[in-house]
Amino acid sequence: MNSFVKKQKRWFNEGHTRSYTFRKEQLVKLKKMITTFEQPLINALRFDLGKSEYEAYTTEIAYLKREINDHLKHIKKWMSPSKVKTPLTHKGSKNYIMKEPYGIALVIAPWNYPVQLAFAPVIGAIAAGNTVILKPSEHTPTVSWVIRKMVEQYFPNHFFAVVEGEKEVTQGLLDQPVDYIFFTGSVPVGKIIMEKASKRLIPVTLELGGKSPAIVHKDAALDLAARRIVWGKFMNAGQTCIAPDYVYVHSDVKANFLKKVQKYIQQFYGLDPLANPDYVKIVNRVHFNRMIGYLDQSHLVFGGGYDEEKRRIEPTIMDHVSWNDTIMQEEIFGPLLPVLTFDSLDEVIEQVSRRPKPLALYYFGENEEDQLRVTHSISFGGGCINDTLYHILNPHLPFGGVGESGMGSYHGKASFDTFTHQKSITKQTTKFDQNFRYPGSQPAIKVI
Ligand code: NAD
Repeated sequence: MNSFVKKQKRWFNEGHTRSYTFRKEQLVKLKKMITTFEQPLINALRFDLGKSEYEAYTTEIAYLKREINDHLKHIKKWMSPSKVKTPLTHKGSKNYIMKEPYGIALVIAPWNYPVQLAFAPVIGAIAAGNTVILKPSEHTPTVSWVIRKMVEQYFPNHFFAVVEGEKEVTQGLLDQPVDYIFFTGSVPVGKIIMEKASKRLIPVTLELGGKSPAIVHKDAALDLAARRIVWGKFMNAGQTCIAPDYVYVHSDVKANFLKKVQKYIQQFYGLDPLANPDYVKIVNRVHFNRMIGYLDQSHLVFGGGYDEEKRRIEPTIMDHVSWNDTIMQEEIFGPLLPVLTFDSLDEVIEQVSRRPKPLALYYFGENEEDQLRVTHSISFGGGCINDTLYHILNPHLPFGGVGESGMGSYHGKASFDTFTHQKSITKQTTKFDQNFRYPGSQPAIKVI
């Protein structure tokens, strides 16, 4: 066992993390740390990913501050035991659920929102009274370095430790006796994590990815649909787990829709996105090359240009794509938008439902029956009707996947609950006894 893990075990077992005051103080400290290191974090995000200050602040830092505020407002209530009803068979007893922290929470983070996705689970873990080991992504090394430095300055490693490194380091951490694993990343690595966790029966949350569709029906408010899809798709150059991966558009409105998509791409990123300093780059050479491999000239209708040195790829639209094309075989995670066409909603439901359950789904259309039909018949993590990404910003909506897109959820109270074991207690009376349960005392009760 690593020495800091040993220290965390001991420290947790001594009960230091349990009180409301301690948890509150740590969350306040966490917020102060993020505020103090705001500029270094923004600079690191610019260096590693080319994120603009605006995007870095809104999608990473502001998000975390709001999440901390929400936890600070509610943890006292969330952590209190909750009473439940007492059935007749339990007369005289009190029944309640205690909120118990697991112990050491290991948080493994990806590179695409490397600050937000590292600290958002940490907020829940701390609020729930756990100690934390955080493993930031090695693909955003400057951000990872800043994260380690700031956490070391603010927190002792017997409570909150940051471990940097490649996947071997993560694998080493998985061999430690941690009590909970919260993983955000790809489906293949999610499977490795779960397999490792199963050896020790460590509970896991897996926040994974997949191909999230945006479905545009013929009665959609087309201009808004195009605007919101362009926003959700090309933010962070498409490197967003819940970005619309592809668009499935009704044939009657496709031409018009694609014109509008082009208009908004130009409006948001200019006529030459490759020269726009605020347009995010692809994280590394491997992902860049993977993306270039998808660029099939016969499908290109807009964009397609790239700058190898800066690792930037233009917002790109690819039309006449079919399910058999390479780009439809795995999550794109980049600024390429394939377009599929449909004539009946049944066909969409059938095709999407045949494949792994998406992390998100976005339906654009005014007819409420169709909205219900899509949201009822297709299983997916979460999503929006007539928008993209917005569901993730509401702290009252648990966020997570289903099937191959993940298991478990977080954000707001769901984060607290994720890192909390619900310990059920019956506190029995000693004033009298329920004799019927003892052998020989009564005939068996028939439950109807
Ligand atoms: P990844 O799975 O490659 O890496 C995530 C983390 O796992 C990193 O910290 C890495 O060090 C570690 N890791 C990598 N290989 C490992 C191995 N063999 N054994 C143990 N640990 C290993 O994911 P990524 O490329 O950083 O992120 C992109 C993926 O994450 C996409 O699929 C995206 O959809 C998904 N994602 C999901 C969410 C969500 O909230 N559901 C959010 C962001 C990203």
